[in-house]
Amino acid sequence: MSQAIIVGGGAAGLGAAFRLLEKGWQVRVLEKSPHIGGLASSVDTSGTTIERFYHHHFVGQDHIVAMAERLGLSDRLHWGTTKMGFISEGELYPFNGPLDLLRFSPLPFLSRVRLGMSIAWFGVLKNWEPLDKRYAKELLLTYSGKPAWDKVWGPLLRLKYGDLLEEVSAAWIWERVHSRRKSQKLGKGKESLGYIRGGSGLLLQHLAKAVRELGGVIETGCHVEAILCEDGRCVGVQESGRKLDADAVVATVPVQVLARLAPTLPKDYIDRLANIEYQAALCVLVRLKKSLSPYYWINVADVKNTFAVIIEHTHLAPIEDYNGEVVVYLGSYLRRDHPWVTAPEDEVAKAYIADLFRLFPDLSQDDIIGYSVGREALAQPVFKRNFASIKPTLETPVQRLFLATTAQSFPESRSVNTALKLGSEAADLAERLCGANAHRP
Ligand SMILES: Cc1cc2nc3c(=O)[nH]c(=O)nc-3n(C[C@H](O)[C@H](O)[C@H](O)COP(=O)(O)OP(=O)(O)OC[C@H]3O[C@@H](n4cnc5c(N)ncnc54)[C@H](O)[C@@H]3O)c2cc1C
Repeated sequence: MSQAIIVGGGAAGLGAAFRLLEKGWQVRVLEKSPHIGGLASSVDTSGTTIERFYHHHFVGQDHIVAMAERLGLSDRLHWGTTKMGFISEGELYPFNGPLDLLRFSPLPFLSRVRLGMSIAWFGVLKNWEPLDKRYAKELLLTYSGKPAWDKVWGPLLRLKYGDLLEEVSAAWIWERVHSRRKSQKLGKGKESLGYIRGGSGLLLQHLAKAVRELGGVIETGCHVEAILCEDGRCVGVQESGRKLDADAVVATVPVQVLARLAPTLPKDYIDRLANIEYQAALCVLVRLKKSLSPYYWINVADVKNTFAVIIEHTHLAPIEDYNGEVVVYLGSYLRRDHPWVTAPEDEVAKAYIADLFRLFPDLSQDDIIGYSVGREALAQPVFKRNFASIKPTLETPVQRLFLATTAQSFPESRSVNTALKLGSEAADLAERLCGANAHRP
């Protein structure tokens, strides 16, 4: 029986493990954290579980829907229509469609029309490939104009990518516009989003249970120190000084971690991976006694603000699941070396909540029931111009070593859906190239 080692127990790792077990492999998943789930892992709150980072799912994300069905969780997948707002210069505006845009007073009237037309044009473009050759900033300045760049796009891109915003691929804009349009089309004009009640972490807990029931082994608290390669072929991994042999290894870690774990990978491959930069994610999850606004998602286009988005989660997930408490994420992306990535949690939460009070003066300390902080340094691969030319494939230059990682979702934003898909595709490739019926080199 062929043996596989999966490095990482997030959605991609568990998805790969499940698929390989179905194909008759012996599988061992090694996860460095004390728990499984990775970026989609959960914390306990208000008597239930919820993701550390906000999560929702789009209509058309078939892999997560199929997995929920497979695991008997279809009744937990809740779909809702949501509203979007936009804060500019301290004022909150509705931001849901052409009419809201025409009333968006921070922009001169003609700029509103131009912004709307440019978004419509990005929406009808069929292919993202030519856009990957252009910078997002150049595209947006050309088609939406400078006022729209200064008031809308620029602050949004800066809050997501910081100083790297100048380098972001225009294909990223294409994907953002298309995924929203698709979701609105299927929701008959309204944004329709999905949520797994209990969190994506719950789905992954069920997936981990299914992996174990099929005979797979999942070890948490296991930090893989090295991926072992000999003569251009992967032979296993090293963890806590022990050497574990395998017929195939599937790495689901960020590419920079892969480069560190397998320094004997060819230099040109490592150099290519080194070009992929990551932003850190930081979310403060706040439980409140009252609602902030009618909006699920509010973009905060103020670069002096600590956070870029406010997600009032209980406008998507039923509030009864949280004992009637309003659950809000204050989300931001930061440079990996930003002091807040390592500062004490209370200090970070206080700074974020102070900005929330500034934006919502009716809110006071008495309205705060509690908070927690979620942080991850290698959370968001930055899709720079020409990303398609450096995007790594599932197959690596070393035989029997496969890669299923967030950076491969390009041009789509990384998601649990894509992670499950990539994990499963890496498993299929491992079976084809290294399974019992394969001609093994
Ligand atoms: C702020 C934020 C918001 C998001 N919003 C959404 C959303 O709305 N919808 C959505 O679908 N997705 C969302 N995502 C993305 C989604 O969570 C991820 O794309 C998905 O969970 C990635 O899964 P993965 O298995 O590829 O990677 P990860 O979850 O990163 O898993 C990799 C695992 O490898 C482990 N690991 C690393 N190094 C080692 C080592 N040396 N040894 C052993 N284990 C190791 C890590 O601990 C981790 O558990 C969001 C993410 C963030 C940060």
